[in-house]
Amino acid sequence: MAEVRHTKILIIGSGPAGYTAAVYAARAALSPVLVAGLQPGGQLVITTEVENWPGETTIMGPELMLKMEAQARAVGTEIIFDIIASVDLSRRPFVAVADSGTIWHADTIVIATGASARWLGLDSETRLRGKGVSACATCDGFFFRGKHVAVVGGGNTAVEEALFLTNFASKVSLIHRRSELRADKVNQARLVANAKIEMIWNAEVADVTGADGVEGIVLTDTLTGASRPLAVDGLFVAIGHDPATALVNGQLVMDSEGYIVTAPDSTATSIAGVFAAGDVRDKIYRQAVTAAGMGCMAALEAERYLAHGAAHVEQVAA
Ligand code: FAD
Ligand code: NAP
Repeated sequence: MAEVRHTKILIIGSGPAGYTAAVYAARAALSPVLVAGLQPGGQLVITTEVENWPGETTIMGPELMLKMEAQARAVGTEIIFDIIASVDLSRRPFVAVADSGTIWHADTIVIATGASARWLGLDSETRLRGKGVSACATCDGFFFRGKHVAVVGGGNTAVEEALFLTNFASKVSLIHRRSELRADKVNQARLVANAKIEMIWNAEVADVTGADGVEGIVLTDTLTGASRPLAVDGLFVAIGHDPATALVNGQLVMDSEGYIVTAPDSTATSIAGVFAAGDVRDKIYRQAVTAAGMGCMAALEAERYLAHGAAHVEQVAA
């Protein structure tokens, strides 16, 4: 027989958003249960130095996440190494079924399942990730002071990453597969005005070269098919992100790109008692500290909801 357990607050995800929600919920005496998922610790476990987490000049991503886990546990969170396979948000209490077979009945749920960067899909890109290949200029741009870097993509993210990288790099080559950017006109104007940025149109990255670090890339012209090498010290891939929202697809209001929509200045979703925090609802900032901030908000809002009911929490119209 499947084990059935009840919790006042079920936190799905063990990134900065989930662990922060857990700390606040535990300190509010809600005895939270956090289900860690396939990637305990979230996205930061696949990076090296983190230099923008307050209070830590430099800390390795996996170490930071172990510290968050330890803190969440120390204040009273039950951490379960399992994956939530499905949720039913139409029932009260909500029902979540885990891969192990455990059935969770939850009075409130915090969805903190994060997002993942889209990659080009090259073997060389995977091999050199964290060694010059990155999907986050805010995180890694600092390491490219005085260097030549390339950015791939033609949307707002790619343009903003390219502009941000000019604070450090001596030169930024922005590579786009077409001859027209998808980015806003305002961003395009900023790009044109920046002398450090070179546009490479109608090109795709076919390979990343280098043994232990990026030494260059191979470009293929999308019109002629011709190949050419370009020497660069780093490659930033900015071709979009995918929020991990498959669990709640069709149950919560989402935007056109699949991010969970929350009420203004709130983590409340379109279903009372369900809160969303971190990269799963944020396509703009995508930082550990902002995810943690939203985790805090979600726990405080869940506490208010449990104490006073739905009328005391903002909600998204379904
Ligand atoms: P995530 O960290 O994505 O965590 C999501 C969690 O949800 C995971 O634990 C996963 O196992 C769990 N999950 C998913 N589905 C399920 C399920 N069905 N059941 C149970 N659990 C589930 N930000 C910075 O501020 N500074 C940096 O230096 C920095 N460097 C980065 C380097 C890299 C390589 C990457 C990829 C990102 C970096 N970021 C950095 C961004 C930062 O990691 C994210 O903004 C942050 O991790 C988002 O936190 P989150 O809690 O929303 O989600
Ligand atoms: P996006 O708008 O979907 O753009 C992705 C870009 O990557 C497109 O130019 C696309 O090319 C390119 N691309 C996709 N797959 C590729 C591949 N395999 N190889 C090469 N290029 C590839 O994604 P985004 O820039 O991350 O933005 C996501 C959303 O957030 C957008 O709505 C954006 O406006 C928003 N956003 C807003 C701001 C802001 O307002 N300041 C900042 C960041 C993001 P094609 O153009 O040819 O399809």
